[in-house]
Order: sequence, then C-alpha cells, then structure tokens
Amino acid sequence: ILNEIKFTMPSLSVNEGAARAVVSSFLIQADPTVEELSDIRTAVSEAVTNAVVHGYRHEKGNIELTVRLLPNRVIYIRVRDKGCGIADVERAMEPLFTTAPEEERSGLGFSVMQSFMDKLRVRSAPGKGTTVTMRK
Ligand code: ATP
Ligand code: MG
Repeated sequence: ILNEIKFTMPSLSVNEGAARAVVSSFLIQADPTVEELSDIRTAVSEAVTNAVVHGYRHEKGNIELTVRLLPNRVIYIRVRDKGCGIADVERAMEPLFTTAPEEERSGLGFSVMQSFMDKLRVRSAPGKGTTVTMRK
C-alpha cells in the first residue's frame, strides 16, 4: 500500500456526496483522468447508497470507506456496512434485480460498479452486513 484513507460515517444519504468528494480529493495524488475519476466516484456513490438504503434500511449504523493507492496506479476501494446483509449475492448482482422496485430503484447499482471498475467483489452475510471491494 502506497497510501490509504479509512473513515467511518453514519448511514445518512448526505454522506453519499461526502464520500464521493473525499474519494476525489484523496485520489488527486494519483493523477487520474477525468473519466477514471468520474467512474470511481459513480461506483463509490452506488456502493454507499446501497449501504444507506438497503443495508441500513431497518436500523441506522456506520459505513466504513477505505481507499488505497496500490503499486502500478491501482486504486482499491472498500465499502463496508454492518447492516441486514444479502441472502443471495449472486442474484442481487444480476442486472435489474432489486428488492425496492416501489422506491423506483432499478437494480442497476452492481452493474454500474461492475462496468465502471475493473474488479468487483461482494461479500455478505444476512444479519452481519456487506463488504464491497473494487479495483481500478
Ligand atoms: P439501483 O442501484 O439501480 O438504485 P438497487 O440498489 O436495488 O437499484 P443494486 O444496487 O444492483 O440495485 O442492488 C441490488 C440489490 O442488492 C438491492 O435491491 C438490495 O436488495 C441488495 N443490496 C445491495 N447492496 C446491499 C447492502 N449493502 N445491504 C443489503 N442489501 C443490499
Ligand atoms: Mg443500488
């Protein structure tokens, strides 16, 4: 690890924007292209939004965000919640799958993370929470 930030924020939707802003300012040192930065901001936003609206749907809690600069200009992002978890991760990651259609969710968050980042991994356990790791 060349550099890292790690911070914790409560599950408030205002923190979706805050997370994007912090990630962008931290990544300036890696000299990303406008497009890379925009992709990463979008992916972070989707992951944090999921933690807020799904993970902590029933009870509020903390979201931990880690950003690392790895050798060869690899950027590592981890978003972790200790919310309700996901029963079937494979199914949740299918395009258009959503458990909140009545809230006008389209089920595309994971697809966006997948296409905007080079690697996406989701680990989750019902009742324990969800950890999303991404690399670009
Ligand atoms: P969109 O992102 O398009 O607004 P969405 O959030 O439903 O819709 P995804 O982001 O792809 O779509 O997530 C798919 C489903 O996975 C969600 O509907 C939810 O059931 C589950 N999910 C995703 N992230 C979490 C999380 N952190 N905790 C619990 N469940 C989650
Ligand atoms: Mg989503």
